[in-house]
Amino acid sequence: MYDVVIIGAGPAGLTAGLYAGRSKLKTLILEKISCGGQILLTEYIENYPGFKEPPLARDLMLDMEKQVKGLGVEILQEEVSGIKKDESGWIVKTDIAERISKSIIISVGSDPKRLGVEGEDLLIGKGVSYCATCDAPLFRGKQVAVIGGGDTAVEEALYLAKFCEKVFLVHRRDTLRAAEILRERVLGNDKITPVWDSVVVKISGKDKVDGMVLKNVKTKKEENIRCSGVFIYVGRAPATGFLADLVKLDEHGHILTDECMQTNKKGIFAAGDCRQKILRQVVTACSDGATAAFCIQRYLESLN
Ligand code: NAP
Repeated sequence: MYDVVIIGAGPAGLTAGLYAGRSKLKTLILEKISCGGQILLTEYIENYPGFKEPPLARDLMLDMEKQVKGLGVEILQEEVSGIKKDESGWIVKTDIAERISKSIIISVGSDPKRLGVEGEDLLIGKGVSYCATCDAPLFRGKQVAVIGGGDTAVEEALYLAKFCEKVFLVHRRDTLRAAEILRERVLGNDKITPVWDSVVVKISGKDKVDGMVLKNVKTKKEENIRCSGVFIYVGRAPATGFLADLVKLDEHGHILTDECMQTNKKGIFAAGDCRQKILRQVVTACSDGATAAFCIQRYLESLN
């Protein structure tokens, strides 16, 4: 019997593990891929406080993982497929085993959204990518496109510009959603060409991407652009599909919680990007994780 099982080892889950470990709760973290989560798709973290030089995302997450393991928290690589309740507690089912816990923190983050255009599915891994940090070196000296106007699209366009000859930044409006500091940086980079008011109609290529068709949403004109890679950053969807009807979600699938990160089910808490909230950053994920673990301690005391 665990005191708490934490599902997902991104910044929210690892911080929850840190606080639970320090409170000497019997804690297990289950992670389907590897510790770090979505943030591993980024190169540097520039807005995490306390660093004069921005740390590499990979290093920051490795340090968080080591810190948590150092407190005796167990971390296993298993994918959770379901959660149910019986008289002994909450049963967490993975592809390998079932475990019983008095409480659960769901910190599963989110998955990239697809554009849903012709050629996208067919050419994934053949020029269509959702991770510039992973794939940029494959496009050295080539022409690529980034789709989206948020923080992620802009950060990834800047990263790609270090490798590629030219980066088109295709956005459906004429103002970027990204933070001002990133906007200034991207618009001042002469390797990056913004393509405003435009959406992708089709990604072309047989065995690999060779271009795309863009449509200007104002003039309705279509044009072909030659490129070898299309990097898609049109937002993220919470990875809460496996929860079915377990806890209350909003219309986008984000988990609803109160200020204590408690869901509508007693003993089930949520933290990080999978939760309905206003700001999704590493620092707010860490804050959620700390709050959830703190409130779980109170919850466990109330059970006794
Ligand atoms: P996001 O902020 O939701 O931005 C998605 C972008 O894609 C928007 O520009 C949106 O256009 C565009 N878009 C959405 N659907 C589209 C479609 N079907 N076709 C074309 N364009 C489409 O997503 P994100 O950039 O992945 O960021 C997610 C969260 O993580 C945000 O809260 C962000 O602040 C945070 N984040 C922070 C940092 C950082 O602090 N350094 C880095 C990365 C991410 P519109 O603008 O017209 O809606």
